[in-house]
Amino acid sequence: MILRNTLALILGLALLAACAERAPEGVALVGATVIDGTGRPPLRDAVVVVRGNRIASIAPRAGFEPPRRMTVVDVSGRWIIPGLIDAHAHVERWALPRYVAFGVTSLRSVHGRMDSALALRDEVNLGGTAAPRIWSAGAMIDGVPPTWPDALEAADERGGRRAIDTLVAAGADFAKLYTRIDSRRMRAILDEARTFGLPVSAHLGLTDALTATSLGLGAIEHMSGVPEAAARDPERYYAAHRQNFFSGWTAFERGWADVDSASLHRVARVLAERGTILVPTMVLHDTYSRLDDPAIYTDDALSAVPRPEIERWNTSEMIQRAGWTTEDFADFRKSRPNQELFLRLFRAEGGVIAAGTDASNQQLVPGASEHRELELLVQAGLPPEAALAAATRNAAALLGVDSIGTLGAGRVADLLVLSADPLRDIRNTRSIEYVMLRGTLYPADSLRAGW
Ligand SMILES: [Zn+2]
Repeated sequence: MILRNTLALILGLALLAACAERAPEGVALVGATVIDGTGRPPLRDAVVVVRGNRIASIAPRAGFEPPRRMTVVDVSGRWIIPGLIDAHAHVERWALPRYVAFGVTSLRSVHGRMDSALALRDEVNLGGTAAPRIWSAGAMIDGVPPTWPDALEAADERGGRRAIDTLVAAGADFAKLYTRIDSRRMRAILDEARTFGLPVSAHLGLTDALTATSLGLGAIEHMSGVPEAAARDPERYYAAHRQNFFSGWTAFERGWADVDSASLHRVARVLAERGTILVPTMVLHDTYSRLDDPAIYTDDALSAVPRPEIERWNTSEMIQRAGWTTEDFADFRKSRPNQELFLRLFRAEGGVIAAGTDASNQQLVPGASEHRELELLVQAGLPPEAALAAATRNAAALLGVDSIGTLGAGRVADLLVLSADPLRDIRNTRSIEYVMLRGTLYPADSLRAGW
């Protein structure tokens, strides 16, 4: 018996030694310019060493001698940035490989069917598949009747507290409130969420942005509640929000053109002072203001969307349901300059902006929309560095984590190797050669070959 155990031990040790002999000791990405996402100047001709799923070091190449078994990848003349984070996603399983191929390595999932949204998060986060890491709100909390059937319903303040308890019990990472939550219910919901330390964000409708943040709301989706807060007479907006979702959206989206810059500035200043994080989803505003433009339906990025999904989108039916006319779209486009102005004012006041897309809702392609969002943030007046921060560091801050969003020793090895400089032209974030997802390096071509 003892002999057998000893034999097993010797065999085991021999196996271990053999494994150690063969196992590569990490990966070194050599020669790229590293934009680490902290705001520090780029580091030229750098070496990024990755061991397991973490970054071991980032240092100048000079004097670097790779250990014997380290895999060395020559990326000279390239740029390395942190993996991107889509801070407003409606995550579907088919979309996961698309996100990765477009360099989106983490997702903030803002609404889905409660059980399946959390199950997908757990499955993905426990590893195995090459998919972005997911932080999930489970299902959104809405009024009665809810806008979408799979929302948690808060009929009153007690119902609001119960909805938060449901999310906490189910293990949601944050709560997302929807347009039919008025300020009374919001107060109760935020109070309950504070008890559990659950972060809360909202797509506002029946509560304006200043009231909501005065009650403790931490983040706002789509810049919702801003025209309501800036308007002299917000009642017409609330009447529209009460009517149904689309009439609320139409009034809100049109309203931007009616508010003056001083009022926008006042709202921007207070939100920034309160530390509110905005997920403006400029790509949603831009795309939905041009749904009467045929180019929207022939965009190259749509080739990444499976045919059945495009059929499920049925965008023309949605336009019909919303009752949008050519004049509505023209009005939405008139609002775009004030939306951009508001974003500039908010940033100038020190406000934090996170990049989100609302994919995979109609015409918003998972992954591709994130690059469009970056482009639109720059178009709104953000420097490329700030746009990049919105999709990395700021989105990580919104998730409440510091292990992603910037590159440095000890951080998760989620990064992109680009063939062109994103700080010279933000559209260069699309020039992805490699995606490193939790330490595994994928050539972008191989990821795109899957569909
Ligand atoms: Zn959404």
